Amino acid sequence: MKDYILTVGLEIHVELATETKMFCNSKNDTDEWHPNTNVCPVCLGYPGTLPTINKEAVRSVLRLGVALGGQIADYTEFNRKNYFYPDIPKGYQISQYKYPLVQGGMLNDVAITRVHLEEDTAKSLHNESGHSLLDFNRAGIPLMELVTEPVIKTPADAANFAREWQLLLRYLDISGANMEKGEMRVEANVSVQRSDLKKDSGGSTLGTKVEIKNLNSFKVVEKAIKFEMARQINALEKGEKVVQETRGWDENKEETFSQRIKESAHDYRYFPDPDLPKLSIKDIPEFSEMALRASLPELPRQKRERLSKLGISKEHMEIYVAQPEWGKLFEEVVDILKDKDLIKLVSNYITSELKSLVSPVEFSEVIRMVTRGELSSKGAKGVLKVLAETGGETRKIAEEENLMQENNREILEKIVEEVLEENKNAPVQFLVGQAMKKSGNRANPVILQELLKGRKGDRG
Ligand code: MN
Repeated sequence: MKDYILTVGLEIHVELATETKMFCNSKNDTDEWHPNTNVCPVCLGYPGTLPTINKEAVRSVLRLGVALGGQIADYTEFNRKNYFYPDIPKGYQISQYKYPLVQGGMLNDVAITRVHLEEDTAKSLHNESGHSLLDFNRAGIPLMELVTEPVIKTPADAANFAREWQLLLRYLDISGANMEKGEMRVEANVSVQRSDLKKDSGGSTLGTKVEIKNLNSFKVVEKAIKFEMARQINALEKGEKVVQETRGWDENKEETFSQRIKESAHDYRYFPDPDLPKLSIKDIPEFSEMALRASLPELPRQKRERLSKLGISKEHMEIYVAQPEWGKLFEEVVDILKDKDLIKLVSNYITSELKSLVSPVEFSEVIRMVTRGELSSKGAKGVLKVLAETGGETRKIAEEENLMQENNREILEKIVEEVLEENKNAPVQFLVGQAMKKSGNRANPVILQELLKGRKGDRG
């Protein structure tokens, strides 16, 4: 068998964590599981509605562009990318074409082609009875698309780039970028060529590229590229041609499969969306490179540079960069001790003894449950105590120790009812306190307050 060179380019879609959607005021909440709740005529695609541009979303992409060392657009516009699919009933997706917000830049030694902004589609759910259901909560969520140059040479490098991308987005606080929640979705363009035939007959230096879609974890990114590389080499070795197409990843068989022959850009009939204003970025003071740069936190690469001067191992350094909560603890302790000779010892204890008390997996589940409102901060403390003392699984502990926050409106309404009955004419704050007590301190105080205010309002 001949030697082959692998070439990979990545396309990564990320949902931005803005308050509202890209072109309307509907809430942007990737945790909302009641279907079709955060919707309005604009994101439902009704004819005759007028979209408006979400400034926060544009700013997020521009900040990222500055962090990447890319070129920020002076001028931009949004385009209609025309195609029909049940999850995009207006018949087009609002995207960008000629004028992406960011061009160029670099991350992990990978050159960036562009970063542009578009809207997410609705979600299709195919149920067992053969029906398809549509949920529009996701429709119109700001979706940022990154395209890299085809310069990645190994499956591991591709996965590492995706990891670094996620980390950067989290540092910039512009997306949770959780792959398991679909907030970050990776596609890989994969091609191989024989190393002794640098140019094919068309004069291109790359082989035929195949796009693999829906890679939903870093492991899968690596596995799918590995599989695809082997498949293409095998085809070429047999004298077959690699077909330019879009392939999916079969989780069970652990292989890629053909989905469709790829459309090219002219099939989409891009044209500027006449409903949206053009943006002269250079005339918006908050979008000046200086203002954007001033808004940046310490970036992962800067943190590495600073930590590397402390004389700790690369392995420890990566723990602190990838898990900033441990990094913060490390730096705080170093700062208190103010003794250079103790830095390594501190780092050893934190990364072994202390870190083994609570596994990062369980700890991140605690954080997730707090942000979802399933645990109050008091409940989180309780769970962490058990995790440190006896270990276990976060959710199980929360359930067994009765620490789950009560969010069920029907149950809370009953409690509110009782409290109102027992304490006539008391102020709302007092009633919230009473209701909290009745719930064994498990009620979600925000919902309680809302229910009580509503009820007090009813009574005039
Ligand atoms: Mn896209």
